[in-house]
Amino acid sequence: MTTPDTIARSRRIERLVAGMATSDGAGVRLTRVLTQPLQRRLDPFLMLDAFRSDDPDDYIAGFPAHPHRGFETITYMIAGRMRHRDSTGGEGLLNNGDVQWMTAARGIIHSEMPEQEDGLMEGFQLWLNLPARDKMQAAAYRDIPSASIPEARLASGARVRVIAGRSQGVDGAMQRPVTEPLVLDIHLPAGQTLAQPLPAGHNAFLYVYRGEVKAGPDAQPVTTTRMAILDNYADADGVSIQADTDARILLVAGRPLGEPIAQYGPFVMNTQAELEQALADYRDGSLAA
Ligand code: MN
Repeated sequence: MTTPDTIARSRRIERLVAGMATSDGAGVRLTRVLTQPLQRRLDPFLMLDAFRSDDPDDYIAGFPAHPHRGFETITYMIAGRMRHRDSTGGEGLLNNGDVQWMTAARGIIHSEMPEQEDGLMEGFQLWLNLPARDKMQAAAYRDIPSASIPEARLASGARVRVIAGRSQGVDGAMQRPVTEPLVLDIHLPAGQTLAQPLPAGHNAFLYVYRGEVKAGPDAQPVTTTRMAILDNYADADGVSIQADTDARILLVAGRPLGEPIAQYGPFVMNTQAELEQALADYRDGSLAA
């Protein structure tokens, strides 16, 4: 059993966000929780999509081959099966609880296709920006099977799956320089509280995908399928989360890059000229060559 982290003063919820229903790929229905207008506020994170459906019409078309440049995608599968193939030769089958960490950097072309014809498909995709100096590095891809995601188990019954960063004394599956992302899947039993230290300068948010929680010193409620943006109060050293019912929460934080963000669909660079270059490279076949 791990010794739980403690904090002296919790951040407050600055704002609740409902997300926007949309479709992407060849017609996959999803909720875009972190949308483009929030990119500056939640720097270094660029996007969070949540998908959950047991209607195959909502997911069966998948995401056929498409390009990316300039950032990383983190896909977390809660339920279902999704096959990934990419231009670096990477291939993997994402199953319940698995993570795929893809560094698009200078360019990758990949497909993400469901490998099931019915049943529940549920998961998330988070986009993490790369610093300007790393945007044109070589692409990389890593599958992290569920069994190799380090977990903290607390006496309270809380379970923290540490996808990236560090929590409750446990180092996560991924550590990234510069932005030092924290990506946690927290399972919190009803009535229990969990404290997570957060560096004050890091932007942070949580997303409740089961149950309801309260967060911060004044116990502000966050209901299911809501994102709570946490404030950057300089005297706070973390966040305190209390579950009203059995709850599952993604908690995400990272150091902002403070660099210009230029996005055109699947390309995220620093300038318009770099976006035009990405598009030209994609068209002439050199983006992922
Ligand atoms: Mn993609």
